Amino acid sequence: MNTASSRRTLTTTTQRKNASMCQHQPACPTADSADREAAQLVAHHPEQGWSLLCNGVLIFEDTGELLPDGRIIAPHRALTAGQVAKAA
Ligand SMILES: [Zn+2]
Repeated sequence: MNTASSRRTLTTTTQRKNASMCQHQPACPTADSADREAAQLVAHHPEQGWSLLCNGVLIFEDTGELLPDGRIIAPHRALTAGQVAKAA
């Protein structure tokens, strides 16, 4: 019948631009900013140990970060001995 005529329109959104997605006021700090952790949370998954910020930065519960360009920020919060022992 009406086969394969209009599937092409789905490909228009393949180009992602994290930096321009922020609609907060004031705008969130960019992922390059030293203040990047102050951006608004857009996803929070404590059961998986990570959160996604508006600027595209992934923050893990050990304070490590993954930037949208692929860079990794090492955890920078000192853990107490008790928290280290708990490997959940
Ligand atoms: Zn924002």
